[in-house]
Amino acid sequence: MSSIEQALSIIKPDAVERNLDNEIKEMFKHKGFKIIKDKKIQIAKNEAEQFYKVHETKPFYNDLCTYLSSGPIVVMVLEKENAVLGNRKLMGATNPKDAEDGTIRKKYGISIDKNSVHGSDSVENAKIEIDFFFKD
Ligand code: UDP
Ligand code: MG
Repeated sequence: MSSIEQALSIIKPDAVERNLDNEIKEMFKHKGFKIIKDKKIQIAKNEAEQFYKVHETKPFYNDLCTYLSSGPIVVMVLEKENAVLGNRKLMGATNPKDAEDGTIRKKYGISIDKNSVHGSDSVENAKIEIDFFFKD
């Protein structure tokens, strides 16, 4: 069974800083994702801490939140059939060294922390993450 889903995607500071946002958006569109919502923002550290709360016990949590709030990011709602899994596949492995050819992280990721994109890991978390950035 397949169904239309939405996923939250974030183009992280390392990629926005290198002006890669348009190229990354083209990769999504090329794979058939519709970009339903889209905004460039900068978040405060406490907002990053809230967004990544699931990782609060991890050793990398503090650096991760400092990093996500360090510069402009582009947040997007992506839509297509099985968007959550499709986005995870297009992003590639968390560590760009392990990412497959043709993935965003293989192409643009610098390191495990500066890995250019975030993507929701489940339909349930996608709803929470979309609400976090786009609740009107
Ligand atoms: N991260 C890190 N060091 C690690 C693992 C993760 O800096 O050892 C960062 C990395 O930027 C990653 C984010 O924390 O994208 C969230 O980690 P997660 O395991 O959820 O990876 P993702 O879902 O982004 O692939
Ligand atoms: Mg994750």
